[in-house]
Amino acid sequence: MSETDAPSAQPTLVGGIDLGGTKIEAIVTDAEHHVLGSARHPTPTEGGPADVANAMAAALTEAAKAASVEPSQLRGVGVGSPGVVDAAAGTVSHADNLPGWSASFPLAAALKSALGTKVALGNDVGVATAAEFELGAGRPYHSLLGVFWGTGIGGGLILDSKPWHGRGGAGEIGHMVIREGGRRCPCGRRGCLEAYAGRAAMEARARRLHDRGVKTRLFELAQEHDRDRLTSGIWERALEHGDRLATKLIDRAVDALGTGIASAVNLLDVEAVVIGGGLGVRFGEPYRARIVAAMLPHLFNDSRPPAVLLAALGDLGGAYGATLLID
Ligand SMILES: [Zn+2]
Repeated sequence: MSETDAPSAQPTLVGGIDLGGTKIEAIVTDAEHHVLGSARHPTPTEGGPADVANAMAAALTEAAKAASVEPSQLRGVGVGSPGVVDAAAGTVSHADNLPGWSASFPLAAALKSALGTKVALGNDVGVATAAEFELGAGRPYHSLLGVFWGTGIGGGLILDSKPWHGRGGAGEIGHMVIREGGRRCPCGRRGCLEAYAGRAAMEARARRLHDRGVKTRLFELAQEHDRDRLTSGIWERALEHGDRLATKLIDRAVDALGTGIASAVNLLDVEAVVIGGGLGVRFGEPYRARIVAAMLPHLFNDSRPPAVLLAALGDLGGAYGATLLID
């Protein structure tokens, strides 16, 4: 192709948007997956799905500007979304961490009209797992389990080099039962991994114990750093301060993750486990090693443990994965 060809004749650049509960991450990449522009906007905490869609379009437009391209010149924009994603219909429902978003909303159509290019939707955890498989820590393998340790515990599966979605609901490692009749999970059931290791569940437990008089600096630290939630950074600071409650809850989370991951590996015998998510990425190597140590006693095939790796794409994994939705 000569330089005089219109750039829109064969567009090679694609956009990716990772829609999270606290932030929207948008990138524009070239055919070799290099990031040419990026932008990060806070996720609206008020309004409804249309407001969130506007914020997503603004973030992508900013990323496109940084890449010196109009959004309409992109080959397409992929979106990794929480909630129940109907990729064929282009809709998202039950995105319960987002404002007013329980009913089905036509997100693909809303973004298409704002950006002027085609839009493809995927599940946030699914696209992040695909990104690690194709571009990140999972590249050497044919089967892997992605474990995303954050507000909740998300899971994604690649089997025989293909994503495994089951009937649409596969990968929910956060709701593997690690203790029958155990702690109440945010999903309403009892004893799930997420009830012990999810950041939201740990925060709720810390608050209850704090209200009952258990000493902790967690909430002071959140206030000092102007956070209304116990973010991954607040947990990290509390651990650095030797906060006893934070240490106890995180130790319990590590044990729970080891148990849940080992159970999943006993069933699936994947070659690799990739640990990502806000807490997973922030805590990094020492915690990866601790999760392995917590996993090993529960492994049936303990002479051949899987490789357990940190997500290589960090915070951008979701946005990278979203770009892969565009052929
Ligand atoms: Zn659950």
